[in-house]
Amino acid sequence: MKQGEVRVRIAPSPTGYFHIGTARTALFNYLYALKTGGKFYLRIEDTDKERSEKKYEEDILEGMKWLGFTYEPEVLRQSERGEIYGKYVRKLLEAKKAYYCFCSKELLDKEREEQMAKKMPQVYSGRCRNLSEGEIEEKFAKGERAVVRIMTPLMEITFSDAIRGEVKFDTQYIGDFAIAKNADGKTLEALYHLAVVIDDYETNITLVIRGEDHLANTPKQILIQEALDLPRPEYAHLPLILDEKRAKLSKRFAATALSDYRKEGYLPEAMRNFLTLLGWHPVDDKEIFTLEEIAAEFTLERIQKGGAIFDGKKLRFLNAHYLRSKSDVELAGLLEIEVTEQNCKKIAAVKERMDTLSQFSILTDFFDALPEYPAERLIWKKSDKETTGKNLLKISEIFNTNNNFSQAKMAIETYAEEEGRGEVLWPLRVALSGKEASPGPIEIMEVLGLAESQERVKKALKNLGF
Ligand code: GLU
Repeated sequence: MKQGEVRVRIAPSPTGYFHIGTARTALFNYLYALKTGGKFYLRIEDTDKERSEKKYEEDILEGMKWLGFTYEPEVLRQSERGEIYGKYVRKLLEAKKAYYCFCSKELLDKEREEQMAKKMPQVYSGRCRNLSEGEIEEKFAKGERAVVRIMTPLMEITFSDAIRGEVKFDTQYIGDFAIAKNADGKTLEALYHLAVVIDDYETNITLVIRGEDHLANTPKQILIQEALDLPRPEYAHLPLILDEKRAKLSKRFAATALSDYRKEGYLPEAMRNFLTLLGWHPVDDKEIFTLEEIAAEFTLERIQKGGAIFDGKKLRFLNAHYLRSKSDVELAGLLEIEVTEQNCKKIAAVKERMDTLSQFSILTDFFDALPEYPAERLIWKKSDKETTGKNLLKISEIFNTNNNFSQAKMAIETYAEEEGRGEVLWPLRVALSGKEASPGPIEIMEVLGLAESQERVKKALKNLGF
């Protein structure tokens, strides 16, 4: 490793779909690597065999790709590294910095209850700390299984967090925690904290940027580092993402899976922009930036300590902005529709009204098939049935006498100026779309063509009883 080289990582657990909070952590790590010219690693933390699933890992990889976050080619999977972890656990056992513990769940529960009653910290009592070699061998020979616990010295652990400043933990509340399980004297399964420490060490991670929910894990991981005499990386714990009532973000408030946003038709550039603002602030109040702009300005100092509120409206606003900045042809590509003149006209007609891609079909369905609508909808709020009918008859006549689009358009506009825009353009728009809200009538006519527009106006007249 080069002197001074920055190495960061994202270490998702594939126990659920790629979470929006993990995506934010990935982004901040990625930005930091971009800013410093450092390396960015992806590690799959699948030590929890029961809860980890391949489909979740695939979702994470897809999400990273969609967001455009590139990482170093060697992806670590903890499930493939059991032997490596085993070596470190054995080293700790040999150095008497860790020990086998055979206490049953019942015994541990009882101990915890007693501690609770005495208002003592609920940590492991250390009962198995002093088992002799002989006792251990005997238990293994009888087929008993053990966990391996690290010996935690009573002390205060202090570390400096780039966002939160100095953080202190008293180890009397941590106790001798397990670093491996299912030990039968020969094999064992490493547990989460141990795997994190070894992987960070073996990939030379210099800075751990992760969610605040991991803050309480840090002293445990530091204890393992110290027992193994490993260097300590720097830490930066990102603020929690909260809903508008300042509760932890949950599915009830907003989708928490990144893929849901992708399916809904959010653009990766909007999502990146949005996630950046979940805890980080630029020097000015600018809200819209490209990834390059953010990376240039990004510093850990500008990350807030307090919770970051998830503002769905802002996400839609940003998405609408990025959608509008696309050309019609680009949007056709994103919508996965053919680039025909007709489709481009449809896109142009609704682009300003879309804040997600999935709205396109809702906003344009009436082009292909006129929906049923109540006749009263044709009547503008300040008008009446008679005037509406009269105006639609006039429009129909314009269609009859002008077979060229721009002539028809001009004639309608002139008529609207004379009779009042609302009086003429409202019923025409409803006649063409059937909808309460839609693009303007001239834009719709452009997509439908004169013949179909005439058909729809005739239908409206019939609907009104003319
Ligand atoms: N696997 C943890 C998670 O998915 C991350 C652990 C870490 O970053 O150290 O939240």
